[in-house]
Amino acid sequence: MDTPQQLQLLAPLSGVLMALDQVPDPVFAGRVIGDGVCIDPTSATLCAPLAGVVSDVQASGHAVTVTSDTGVQVLMHIGLDTVNLAGTGFTPRVEAGQRVEAGQALIDFDADYIALHARSLLTLMLVVSGEPFKSLVAATGLLEAGQPVLDVVVGAAAGEITATTQGDAVFSQPIELLNPNGLHARPAAVFAQAAKAFSATIHLHRLQAQANAKSLVAIMALQTAHGDSVQVSAEGEDAEAAVQALTRLLSEGCGEAVTAPAPVEVAADMPNILRGVCASPGSALGRVMHIVEPSLMVNEFGAAPPIELESLTHALIEADMALQHLRDTASGQARAEIFKAHQELLADPSLLDQARALIDEGKSAAFAWKTTTEATAAMFRSLGNALLAERAADLADVGHRVLKLILGVQEQALELPDDTILIAEQLTPSQTAGLDTRKVLGFATVGGGATSHVAILARACGLPAICGMPMQMLTLDNGTQVLLDADKGELQLYPDAQSIDQLRARHERQRQRHQHELAHAAQAACTRDGQHIEITANVASHSETAQAMELGANGVGLLRSEFLYLGRHQAPSHDEQVSTYSAIARSVGPAHNLVVRTLDVGGDKPLAYVPMDSETNPFLGLRGIRLCLERPQLLREQLRAILACSELTRLHIMLPMVTSLAELRLARQILEQETRGVGLAHMPKLGIMIEVPAAALMADVLAPHVDFFSIGTNDLTQYTLAMDRDHPRLASQADSFHPSVLRLIAMTVQAAHAHGKWVGVCGAMASERLAVPLLLGLGVDELSVSVPLIPAIKSAVREVSLSDCRIIAEQVANLESAADVRATLQRFYEAKLDASPVMEN
Ligand code: PEP
Ligand code: MG
Repeated sequence: MDTPQQLQLLAPLSGVLMALDQVPDPVFAGRVIGDGVCIDPTSATLCAPLAGVVSDVQASGHAVTVTSDTGVQVLMHIGLDTVNLAGTGFTPRVEAGQRVEAGQALIDFDADYIALHARSLLTLMLVVSGEPFKSLVAATGLLEAGQPVLDVVVGAAAGEITATTQGDAVFSQPIELLNPNGLHARPAAVFAQAAKAFSATIHLHRLQAQANAKSLVAIMALQTAHGDSVQVSAEGEDAEAAVQALTRLLSEGCGEAVTAPAPVEVAADMPNILRGVCASPGSALGRVMHIVEPSLMVNEFGAAPPIELESLTHALIEADMALQHLRDTASGQARAEIFKAHQELLADPSLLDQARALIDEGKSAAFAWKTTTEATAAMFRSLGNALLAERAADLADVGHRVLKLILGVQEQALELPDDTILIAEQLTPSQTAGLDTRKVLGFATVGGGATSHVAILARACGLPAICGMPMQMLTLDNGTQVLLDADKGELQLYPDAQSIDQLRARHERQRQRHQHELAHAAQAACTRDGQHIEITANVASHSETAQAMELGANGVGLLRSEFLYLGRHQAPSHDEQVSTYSAIARSVGPAHNLVVRTLDVGGDKPLAYVPMDSETNPFLGLRGIRLCLERPQLLREQLRAILACSELTRLHIMLPMVTSLAELRLARQILEQETRGVGLAHMPKLGIMIEVPAAALMADVLAPHVDFFSIGTNDLTQYTLAMDRDHPRLASQADSFHPSVLRLIAMTVQAAHAHGKWVGVCGAMASERLAVPLLLGLGVDELSVSVPLIPAIKSAVREVSLSDCRIIAEQVANLESAADVRATLQRFYEAKLDASPVMEN
């Protein structure tokens, strides 16, 4: 007989050694999984303690097993209850089946994240094949990664785990796994130990795969998940008893608390419907897939500063080139704009200066860049401004791009199955822009807001999306069937057949309707009783204007001029402004109105080259016309550039956020002076936005001094209801259909018409089909809508008669809530649908 060999196991991490008995977890402390050591880590890469083959890496990345050529199986488990992190914080560097050398990196982990989000960071190294070992170090104390820790006696496993088939096997019924994370290390160990009590050969089956039920590693390698259907089979003398006992154990959760499934097939304590806020409209049926951004390991100290600086500069150039490529190949202006904004962020000299200073102190390029971008993003977030907070997300995104280039980490293309509904804590703009829309049908995120770049991108590619979802959503298993109804802000889990049929029917109706609308886009928008309504576009760029005109717009009802110059560090020159406004004016042409709104900076729209003091309540601060009147030079320069295109189109100038007649008078004076200054005989039409309740309430006083009003229902709603327009929790209540907002619209229209002035609505409400009969009934003359919806809103006008609209507008005026108003309008449409086949089908 051979003398047993010794196999040395190296410390997989640096850290403090702890006795296994002290681990605050009975399964580990009781050595149910195996005997070994516990380390409280001070390093953040788990390395192989021995050479061998990786027999299993858990899908959640928190545990890995390596088997030596001599059959010694060593399981490493990072942290306690870390399976619940669903992969966040772990970056496996190896795959199952791969050969590894002792000391080779197996898993990188984000120690800070795990320490904050899991029960403990204590890491176990356990000999799960059962061989005895001798410790080579003191029972407690400091360990260095790679230092020999245990001497294992090879070939002396306590009881060899064999599973050979001899006769007819007894099979259990299929059992649904109730463990929230399937059979991960702890329940698998309990199951394997119970199986070892029987002499029968026992297997656990999942789909086509089977595992020796007495081998912890084999069970873990099955990578079972919650809701999986498994079966136990056994052969041998006590086969019947084994199948019975193990079936019971599985249905009881193998030592983990589990709850039997509710009859509605919903995971324990998970409601059937999860609610968030619509970030991009639409609906889709698909299966859940989580996106988890791998964390990157960064060393604090680097090589000589010139080398590190070179590495940073090189990565910045590469990132800029990659962004330029994405910009050039982007489908759609919105995507291209976002990559352009990312390039602007990269070019910010203060980021480079800060990173360079850290490199000069001896820090690595990666550390310097990470620290700088994270600190700047945190500063953005702390300013209490929703838009800046979202730019923090952009900075984090572009920061990550550069960091990966410094570290030489390859971009991993996401392998997604068909009909995917992505689930993530937060998606980055790059991830969103890179989504394969042939496979991804929509997404739902915990973070993000309706005004985020991610939401803008989702709308640009027509992907339904919900943000502001509960954290609970992140516990859904990959593959769970869900119905994403972004219009309602709902994610329905395990939808029933009826909901699925309704969704399909809805999609078909929408498809047919869209075709019909497109075919008639060029026709005028006249109600059935002959009232012509101007349907104009809300635009923020030249290309959007051109697109709007192609889709049948009767001009531009709102050019959000501040968006033309977002993300710049210097004001555009006069010539540049003239050429931008002229190009837009040419697209609109002499037969239509072009309403240029003067800079609406402040609030949720900071402009980098108009630095402002930070404000406690930016929405109530120096916004819109208030800021322009405080810096009249800015307004004068803009007006001069706008006036330069007055020959090209029917030019209208509109002032945002007007609250008092005094502001209007002052701005008019400035416009008169500038008009004279450029030698124009006539002043263009001048109007104001009605978006502050004070302006609506004083509309009769303001009307004689304007040529038109345009109601900004987005701001009018937030100021009337005192609800932040970007607040994810209030989004469903901050509804422009609230009767208080409707009363202000009615007052505005009456006052304007009494003075012979026209009124438009350019807030998002005008782009809602449901609002069309209401706004027409209230007497609104023009609807300025989001570009893709022009054909739909034109067609909605054609479907109604003004007389019906007036009746419905009167009916809803006295209702109590926005929900009641919406319900009444819905019924109005349903009644029309019955009466007219043109409506939905
Ligand atoms: C509004 O407030 O409704 C509006 C159209 O202006 P903005 O959304 O640009 O603030
Ligand atoms: Mg506004």
